[in-house]
Amino acid sequence: MGCQASTLTGVRTQRLMQWVSIVYNALMPIQERTIRTEAIVLRHKNWGEADRMLWLYTRKMGKVQAIAKGVRKIRSRKAGHLEPFTHTNLLMARGRTFLIITQAETLDAFLNIRDDLLRVGYAAYVIELLDRFTYDEDENQLLYRLLKETLSRIDTENDPNLPVRYFEIQLLDLLGYRPELTNCLNCESLIEAEDQYFSISLGGALCPRCGPKFPDASQVSLNTLKYMRHFQRSSFTEAARAQLTPELNHDLEELIQRYFMYFLERNLNTPAFIRRIKNQPQQD
Ligand SMILES: [Zn+2]
Repeated sequence: MGCQASTLTGVRTQRLMQWVSIVYNALMPIQERTIRTEAIVLRHKNWGEADRMLWLYTRKMGKVQAIAKGVRKIRSRKAGHLEPFTHTNLLMARGRTFLIITQAETLDAFLNIRDDLLRVGYAAYVIELLDRFTYDEDENQLLYRLLKETLSRIDTENDPNLPVRYFEIQLLDLLGYRPELTNCLNCESLIEAEDQYFSISLGGALCPRCGPKFPDASQVSLNTLKYMRHFQRSSFTEAARAQLTPELNHDLEELIQRYFMYFLERNLNTPAFIRRIKNQPQQD
């Protein structure tokens, strides 16, 4: 008797759950199952016989992984719209395990980047940083915009180096790693117009009195700090007026990359690639 009652309750619960699931699916907004969003293709790898797995940074969902079916077939219409660095408009459906790309349309292929190995290096560096510092499905529209605009600047600016320096500083801001550059991190006194120290582990500037007391603090020129501050506060148009000398550019690059690697606890791959390209004899 007790057994029968519990079976009946079991059946009722099952039916109730079925109803809940039917009602839930009917009420679930359609965009939950199909997603239309702009995205930047970060990287891809072959998947199965003819498919490709893509890592995308989307405007609506942050970083996601999605499958593009059949793109390695010669007659695929999606293939050209899903190359790395492409700014694309996507329609995706939620599959059982992965998102599936059902439509893709190029918004900007950044063709100048593809024609120039150094620009490829810079774009790959920007993408490596973004990829390493972000988690899946962590939406960040400001970061999406920064990525898209940076690739566009690397594509069109005469000097693609400056957009990359600007990206580094803005990326730190958006990720919540903004270095403190206006007051000494130890005594809190205002940073004066003189050379200073910078501590990677403390995350910012130390005055010349405090700096030597911290083993990981290294000397940094007033100019380097000034440009970092300028890039933190300015729009790209304002930042682009900066005349970076090669020495200053080198100092900024070196400091910021050490800072990134401190958080990543490992090396970045792309800076070595960029150095190799820069050291190659120019072919004209
Ligand atoms: Zn101090």
